Amino acid sequence: MITLIADTHTHTVATDHAYSTIGENTAQAARIGQKILCWTEHAPKMLGGPSSLFFAGIFDLPRYINEIMVIRGAELNIMDYEGRVDLSEKLVKQLEWVIASYHRPCIDPANVKTHTKGWIKIAENQDIHVIGHCGDPRYAFEHGPALQAFKDCGKIVEINAHSFTARPGSRENCIKIAEKCAELEIPIVVSSDAHHYLSIGDVGPALEVLEEMRFPPELILNGDYHRFLETLRRTTGQELC
Ligand SMILES: [Zn+2]
Ligand SMILES: [Zn+2]
Repeated sequence: MITLIADTHTHTVATDHAYSTIGENTAQAARIGQKILCWTEHAPKMLGGPSSLFFAGIFDLPRYINEIMVIRGAELNIMDYEGRVDLSEKLVKQLEWVIASYHRPCIDPANVKTHTKGWIKIAENQDIHVIGHCGDPRYAFEHGPALQAFKDCGKIVEINAHSFTARPGSRENCIKIAEKCAELEIPIVVSSDAHHYLSIGDVGPALEVLEEMRFPPELILNGDYHRFLETLRRTTGQELC
């Protein structure tokens, strides 16, 4: 059975459509036995997202809250199909865990070819670490070329459990994407995309799918403390512990 030591995609009241604090989220992470929490607030162009000042100030918080290691990240909005995102390069370079995602309020869906080109542009941005909820069928893309670009550029693919309910059709897409990740040996993370503390670590349906398809456990980065710490050493540039 796969168990996770980190939730790699979480939101707090800093965004107006999320309902818990970092204190509540970390307390819940500790309660369920996790060790690490990636704090990945929506970047400014999301409706109700915090301003860039939030991301500049996030480093003033302690590394450990409620004995959980807090990784200071963001969920960037992809703003066009040429690779533009909504935080300055200077700020993005400082962040320790950078997800980029397509969101309806920030970019209108186009067509498969264009979505694919958009992902390849994002892959080429060395400051972005994680490909966010790419199973969303509204932004369907050609898995072959995009995932090859993710592999070539050292990206991590997120399997987002929240998408299974919030973005209909994601489950089927995520299975196909995970199959291709296994084939190409692309590392993945499994996340909750929690918008309140009770969802922290709530990734059951995503883990079920991965277990059913016998996804290689060694490719699930947040399935092992040392494996994930090694990844964080690369993304944060710090020893951490
Ligand atoms: Zn998102
Ligand atoms: Zn999110």
